[in-house]
Amino acid sequence: MEKGSVSREPDPFSMNTGQNTLGDIYKGQPSILKIAQLGNPVLRIPAAPLTDQEILHPSTSHFIDSMIATMREYNGAGLAAPQVSFSKQIIVIESRENRGGDFPLTILLNPKIVEFSKDLAEGWEGCLSLKDLWGKVKRSTRIKVEAKTREGKNIDIKAEGFFAIVLQHEIDHLYGKVFVDRMEDMTSLCFTAEYNKYMTDEL
Ligand code: ZN
Repeated sequence: MEKGSVSREPDPFSMNTGQNTLGDIYKGQPSILKIAQLGNPVLRIPAAPLTDQEILHPSTSHFIDSMIATMREYNGAGLAAPQVSFSKQIIVIESRENRGGDFPLTILLNPKIVEFSKDLAEGWEGCLSLKDLWGKVKRSTRIKVEAKTREGKNIDIKAEGFFAIVLQHEIDHLYGKVFVDRMEDMTSLCFTAEYNKYMTDEL
């Protein structure tokens, strides 16, 4: 049925409010995407860079909005496209409220880390694709990243602290790596319940 046509029958595709059709929702609103879990091969293959044409395609923009909605829905500090089964070089990160350092919503396409500090710091990491697991990982405390924005512009970012840690974690996903690959000592690996019970004093 065309929008605007007259019908006395209820529209089976309208929501309870009667205001939106499924078509309206699909076009207008981001989706919550399914998170690939460890063991899914998509997490272990290198993601492809986007061409300039792909970056500017409306589907990419809609997909990025869905990545942001998915990261927020699951309370993540970051999400990489392979984690939602799309093997392209896109990451979104954001930290708000009590995560050891706030930083604004940052969307990067084709990101590359071009400088790593020699200074390393060890911190706890978790991952939406390794649900309920936590472990200690050493990362550079300062990095420099070159990337493209969602508008296709070149951008350089100098990051430090938690911002730098999350960037390194998410960019690792684009190379098929997950945080447990970076752990030097596996004895800190633990589940969320035990982490909350035994490890919170160390935060
Ligand atoms: Zn992750």
